[in-house]
Amino acid sequence: MLDTSASSMTESNCSYPHITSMQWEFDGDPCQRAWVEIDLKALVHNVEQIKSLLSPQTALMAVVKADAYGHGARIVSEKVLEAGASWLGVATVPEGIELRQAGIDVPILVLGAVNSPEEIQAIAHWKLQPTICSPQQAKTFSETLGNLDQKLPVHVKLDTGMSRLGTFWQDATEFIELVQKLSNLEIASIYSHLATADDVDPTFMKQQHERFQSAIASLKATGIIPRLHLANSAGTLSDQTLHYDMVRVGLALYGLYPADHLQQVINLKPVLSVKARVTQVKTISPGTGVSYGYKFVASKETQIAVVGIGYADGVPRSLSNKMKVLIRGKIVSQIGTITMDQLMLDVSSIPDLQVGEIVTLLGKEGNIKIQADDWASALGTISWEILCGFKHRLPRVAVG
Ligand SMILES: *Cc1c(COP(=O)(O)O)cnc(C)c1O
Repeated sequence: MLDTSASSMTESNCSYPHITSMQWEFDGDPCQRAWVEIDLKALVHNVEQIKSLLSPQTALMAVVKADAYGHGARIVSEKVLEAGASWLGVATVPEGIELRQAGIDVPILVLGAVNSPEEIQAIAHWKLQPTICSPQQAKTFSETLGNLDQKLPVHVKLDTGMSRLGTFWQDATEFIELVQKLSNLEIASIYSHLATADDVDPTFMKQQHERFQSAIASLKATGIIPRLHLANSAGTLSDQTLHYDMVRVGLALYGLYPADHLQQVINLKPVLSVKARVTQVKTISPGTGVSYGYKFVASKETQIAVVGIGYADGVPRSLSNKMKVLIRGKIVSQIGTITMDQLMLDVSSIPDLQVGEIVTLLGKEGNIKIQADDWASALGTISWEILCGFKHRLPRVAVG
């Protein structure tokens, strides 16, 4: 199933690859300047950990939108389905089509809203399952699709307090009865999305849960009781009463915790590492500036390394002069402005450093770990955004 066409590159004297878009290699130490490693064992471990929280009636939807948070949607989907996930969640129609074209035939929910006739037709053609957010959208779907041999399974979205997609929970019954009456649509689930599940204070999460419950309770009279789901990673880790028939897990699959206070719940292992090679080593004298704008000036004689990775690969420029990396299991500091394709390090502590040696920007060497959370907190953002930031220019290398 896996595309191993580039596997010859993993031999020790590798021939130079022709890089198109996302490229995969397996179990190799690639010859490129920089790459992303995906640890498939860690991914399977995380699925097992998450499943250990779920009752047998609760399905696991693996959220693989945004190219599986930068990890590669196809390979992640194949692995997590083997490991026990049974649904996939994507954000867009093309993301769903990519998985269908890869031969994946499990149910795929498109979490984003689809309104154009072209995309609605594509949904039906590729047997994707849409989110229906409003009565108007339901009618557009029904009219666009016309007569179908088989009803299209759709997922009705309620807004219980996220103020994003969905019909307000108070209007749930009317909305759902309307969808139910459309002859070519079939309600496969009713769901909502939590806004504050990663918060230590559960007040708002409980309020959303109560709204979801009251919407469901008011439906009981109509006899419509499809599958229900509510929890993202944070909801899944924080409260089993949120699990219902399915949980929609993204971040935790990739081995990161949605919040510090949830670290005790299960043991997760980060799946993604980012590595690059030293491309030049040199020594600069005191007073010498480094990189654009001379935001770093050497105060003493300093050995520096140039590394072949930059902001066009997804290393945020705003980490300039703030980030640490690992070489030979040692922490070293990045210095000067991070440029589009390269960055510099102070490697005075490794006098015999050689061109070609590997630098770990994210990942583990020995007992030291640098995590997406470390970058996120230095930048005032969240690990989700860091993971999604790695560009296709970085080949993905599957390990484990
Ligand atoms: C992205 C997304 C998820 C997954 O969120 P995580 O916090 O990464 O687990 C779940 N549900 C919906 C609707 C989403 O958009």
